[in-house]
Amino acid sequence: MQDALGNTQEAIHNTQSFESAVVPRRGDTVMVAGEGCWMIDREGQRYLDLTAAQGVAMLGYNHPVLTAALQEQAARLHACPNFFYNDTRAAFLEKLIAVTPRHLTHAFLANSGAEAIDGAIKFSRLATGRTGIVAAKGSFHGRTVGAVSLTWNPKYRRKFEPLLPDVSHIPFNDIDQLVAAVSDETAAVALEVIQGEGGVNEGDAGFLAAAQQICRERGALLVIDEIQTGFGRTGQWFGFQHFDLTPDIITLAKGLGGGFPMGAIVYSSQVQESLFVGAHGSTFGGNPLASAAGLAALTVYQDGLIEQAERAGRRLRGELEAAIGERKIVRAIRGRGLMIGIDLRTKAMPFLKTLMERHRVLALPAGSTVLRLLPPLILSDDEIGLTVEAIAATLPQNM
Ligand SMILES: *Cc1c(COP(=O)(O)O)cnc(C)c1O
Repeated sequence: MQDALGNTQEAIHNTQSFESAVVPRRGDTVMVAGEGCWMIDREGQRYLDLTAAQGVAMLGYNHPVLTAALQEQAARLHACPNFFYNDTRAAFLEKLIAVTPRHLTHAFLANSGAEAIDGAIKFSRLATGRTGIVAAKGSFHGRTVGAVSLTWNPKYRRKFEPLLPDVSHIPFNDIDQLVAAVSDETAAVALEVIQGEGGVNEGDAGFLAAAQQICRERGALLVIDEIQTGFGRTGQWFGFQHFDLTPDIITLAKGLGGGFPMGAIVYSSQVQESLFVGAHGSTFGGNPLASAAGLAALTVYQDGLIEQAERAGRRLRGELEAAIGERKIVRAIRGRGLMIGIDLRTKAMPFLKTLMERHRVLALPAGSTVLRLLPPLILSDDEIGLTVEAIAATLPQNM
């Protein structure tokens, strides 16, 4: 038996049993298509996807601009080595630099978030001649050996130690411990402005400003991980713009290609000056298909989608507060824009299951008690209504 994608039943089950060893899988659902904010399974059942495929499909599925760009590029040139210039890559890089703040003048293209973090670690070491990294408890920066060294959760780290040396984790939003941790051996302080996986924990403006100040005073770089918060997710182009920061390096992935796998490091000219030929590289980074996807996504973001996401975020947040904000089970509703965490007084997983099975609504966990929403930025008012209705019907009234 073959399904719509030509996979045999057996192949699907083999893949899933492998995946399930690593990631808990959601039932036997086989997703085969998507349209706007909706995913469609093999039986034709539609699901309102408030996960945007783990925060990446910012334009939703089968967005006409993204699809056309990929199709056109695929038919023209789908691979090009980095020792040639490529028209699409050049156009994408130019736009990427244009949408990032003025002081960030250079970009390196990679293939994922963790790879961007690894590059940021290397660049920080080169630019400062130091090795220390200060990160925060509750952080998530990816799972390659370099990136997982910065990630906080012991579950992801412990079995793989020893990891990178000279990495310390201070409590998020604790200025005193931050100041105590940054020394003249610190290459970088690496932070998310809103911790995603860690529970949608918002950075305090005072803490983030102190991080920047202490970096400048002690000659360390400020690395802001915008992999989850970038590209309108929080209602601004980048999360750090809510706090008026000027990071030396930002790491990007997730929304960068509208769901096409790619990552990037965008950094200052001071960082650029320390790089030598061969300091870093990537065979696939800046691939023409990825660049075409990135160029298309940036075009759509620039065309009013960031502002639309800000409005949608405000509306969703307001309606959620009104519908469930006063319920006993809700400890807090946190986040900015379309990055929302509903912190519960109990485990979130059973509710995620009910949302999917009973309401055909997909949401994410963050930590064990937080129900996290990272919908596509195109979420409509009707879809906001459906979201709030489903969540209100799922969370108990008096518990
Ligand atoms: C997802 C994520 C990463 C890791 O990105 P991958 O593409 O999975 O390697 C790193 N940092 C943050 C903040 C993320 O949300």
